Amino acid sequence: MEIWRHRPSNLQRTAVCPSWMQIAIQLPEPGESAAASEGKLLHEAIAERSTDGLSADQIEMYEWCLTELAKAGFDAPQHEVAMALELDPPLPVITGTADVVQDTPTATKILDWKTGWVAPPSPEDNLQLGAYAAMTWQKYGKPVEATMVMPRLKRVETYTFTQLESVVSYISLLLQKTMRLRGEGVMELKPSADCRYCPVKNICPAISAGSMLQETDASVLTADNAATVYAQLNMIAKKAKDEMSKVKAFVKRNPDCEGIAIKTSPGRGTFRDSDETYSILSAYMTHKEIMEHVSFGFSSLRDAFATKYAASHSVTKKEGTRQFFEAVKTQLERKQQEKIECR
Ligand code: SF4
Repeated sequence: MEIWRHRPSNLQRTAVCPSWMQIAIQLPEPGESAAASEGKLLHEAIAERSTDGLSADQIEMYEWCLTELAKAGFDAPQHEVAMALELDPPLPVITGTADVVQDTPTATKILDWKTGWVAPPSPEDNLQLGAYAAMTWQKYGKPVEATMVMPRLKRVETYTFTQLESVVSYISLLLQKTMRLRGEGVMELKPSADCRYCPVKNICPAISAGSMLQETDASVLTADNAATVYAQLNMIAKKAKDEMSKVKAFVKRNPDCEGIAIKTSPGRGTFRDSDETYSILSAYMTHKEIMEHVSFGFSSLRDAFATKYAASHSVTKKEGTRQFFEAVKTQLERKQQEKIECR
């Protein structure tokens, strides 16, 4: 029941938002997303060296992945290897499946396929990959050369983990903290860009506090709720500060502001594809639907999204439109800020 929450893929969220598991504990394990299903299909195709059931686009990725697998030196790969990270009790055992593993006399090589449109953190900063490296180290006792292959982005990154005791200690400290907070009945929720992908975002009080305050004015303040509203405002101020830091870092890295994906002006908007926006919308719409509507502009995309959302969630189209803006809000705000900074 608890184990899905302790997967390597959830550790990064635990590092940023230590109490998300306290909410997740109330929910059953979420189903597989369309993106995860496609990733799994591709992994299986590579393991079995078969393109049966793949589209032309997927076959192109499959072939590119096989080339990169060979280039990375995997001449006798084992695919889909079950792994476990043993931590000192009472911490849980973390389990996962490494995409590809190959043991060599001096090091063990692992490879992780990343089939999304958004680049994950580099291997050395990637806690999911760090956890797989730690599991591999516990099993084979050697340094771990970890490679991340991103077929959609045509990118490959490799890092050799040597200080794996430190990775195990760091993960242990993270889990100790979440258990301590839970034992004390304290919730430490920290909204971030990752909230979009969080399986508990629909019932998270940190998120609903933000939505509630957007629709609230000072006239509803009472002596009884002032403290709660103050706490919620603090949470929102912190979130805004985090977003501003990200914008500043982005602008610093992109002094000419190349790559702006969405421009807005009062009453109007234009949309151009970008990895991040594509990723947000692809959680709700197929590639074909997005591309059809992108070519007609922002309002067409918005309406298509709203109609689809309304039908699939049995809500009004107005609510679907609200959800669209919610989905792209961070992106819009960030891009608007980039425009300001770039003047
Ligand atoms: S939605 Fe965000 S703030 Fe809420 S639990 Fe998930 S990661 Fe934390």
